Amino acid sequence: MGLRALQEEVDRWIRTVGVRYFSEMTNLAILMEEVGEVARIFARRYGDQVPKQNEPPMELAEELADVLFVLLCLANQTGVDLEAAFRQKMAARTQRDARRHRENPKLARPSGDETPE
Ligand SMILES: [Mg+2]
Repeated sequence: MGLRALQEEVDRWIRTVGVRYFSEMTNLAILMEEVGEVARIFARRYGDQVPKQNEPPMELAEELADVLFVLLCLANQTGVDLEAAFRQKMAARTQRDARRHRENPKLARPSGDETPE
């Protein structure tokens, strides 16, 4: 399923189940909230934090899906065709970074090895 189909599905859902879109500013705040939930998982899973006592477990996949949902809402509300925008950005990124990452010595070592040289 492409991004365009996802935007359409979200729009149908909002207009039926959701009644109407929250305002753009509200959805922007919700986007920040959901990104924060992803950060919380990363801080505990890959960072130095541990879960608080009795903290309910959070699923990364669910939280990433929450981020995507509200991002799709914002794209719909602002008239952005995310699929077209994504294609354009990937093309630009590919052209801009054609050699950049291959020539980056920091990427030659395994991911997560942050030992200073
Ligand atoms: Mg969430």
